[in-house]
Amino acid sequence: MVFATPVVIGNWKMNGLRADGEARVRQVLDLQRAQPGAGLLGICPPATLLSPIAAILENSDILLGGQDCSSDAKGAHTGDISAPMLEDAGCRLVIVGHSERRLGHCESDEQVSAKAAAAAAAGLVAILCIGETEDQWAAGRTLEVLDRQLDGSLPERATAENLILAYEPVWAIGTGRTPSAPDIARTHGHLRAHLERRIPGGERLRILYGGSVKATNAGEILAIDHVDGALVGGASLDAAEFFAIYRAGQAA
Ligand code: PEP
Repeated sequence: MVFATPVVIGNWKMNGLRADGEARVRQVLDLQRAQPGAGLLGICPPATLLSPIAAILENSDILLGGQDCSSDAKGAHTGDISAPMLEDAGCRLVIVGHSERRLGHCESDEQVSAKAAAAAAAGLVAILCIGETEDQWAAGRTLEVLDRQLDGSLPERATAENLILAYEPVWAIGTGRTPSAPDIARTHGHLRAHLERRIPGGERLRILYGGSVKATNAGEILAIDHVDGALVGGASLDAAEFFAIYRAGQAA
């Protein structure tokens, strides 16, 4: 089954201790129970908070996700977490290929593809991130860069059921800047055509936009053709703002 829209996923990155993380999730859950809507909410906390948050989200509609996984199922990889471990901790989702991993940890397209394949093998849905840098954007190379990243990092058996794509311009992450609505429309239209060529059922695969999505711009962004939801970083650290983004997608 493909995911109902809007698909709104919060990436907490390396933020949150147990007390504030649990309180934030409880707040999102209360908001969602008070104002249920269509679509899907997901939360990707730091690994240390997965177990307590899984307990809070049990029997809820909100999905839990990891922020990265190893391409191996187990073994001598100090500090890494495997996809089966995430699944065992209660996750249904995992982010792979985030630019903070690609650039900060030198992850290649090939590694990202292997991680997405490992996620699918463990029964998780991979949220595969791609995005151009500011220099590539300024040079007009966005679509070429995205095509290359997609070709290199889409796993062989990607389907609309086991993968969600997230377009995240690197220069828009955490900066308060976003591409214009026509630019996002053009890019997402291009990605849709690419997915249709590459994947059976590619017309149904969900494509998220990520990069400085806030309650104030979510309505406009989520209404753009082929934008099926948002991957939200900074704004997901505020439960009310995160939920307002999801609500904005209901109206879009
Ligand atoms: C992200 O890092 O995935 C992201 C979208 O961050 P922000 O919303 O803070 O720009």
